[in-house]
Amino acid sequence: MKIGPDTVVTFHYTLRDESGAELESSRGADPAAYLHGANNIIPGLESAMVGQSGGDTFTATVNPADGYGLRNPEKVQRVPIKHLSFKGKLSAGDVVQLSTDDGMRTVTVTKAGRHTADIDTNHPLAGQTLVFDIEVSEVRSATAEELTHRHVHGPGGHHH
Ligand code: ZN
Repeated sequence: MKIGPDTVVTFHYTLRDESGAELESSRGADPAAYLHGANNIIPGLESAMVGQSGGDTFTATVNPADGYGLRNPEKVQRVPIKHLSFKGKLSAGDVVQLSTDDGMRTVTVTKAGRHTADIDTNHPLAGQTLVFDIEVSEVRSATAEELTHRHVHGPGGHHH
């Protein structure tokens, strides 16, 4: 079966940046799973998956616009340190939790002061060209329930 609308895809991936440095990988853990056509994964990777089958391996290069978006410099802001949740000493480059009216958000510290910190609320991968090494494990038809929920159930997906 080839990947297309309403298929469930399980796959292993290694994600590298443009310089070849590894950012994350599913290898050595359970494969990832997504429902094709449901915006479960970034658009550039989803379109590269079309037509692939179980056992196929390929490399997909995804531009920022088709990945996690462009970096918005206005998303850097100064906040009181007491709004951040972290352990030990706060330093630039730390990825910490910011409490907001909408709950906790993951942010990157760009500058740490005594009472305030500058934080970047862009997605950590925003503005980056992403290189995925993909190995398709399995392609199957989505169940009616998965199509209603717009996500995968079972291994690699939701359990509820
Ligand atoms: Zn569900």
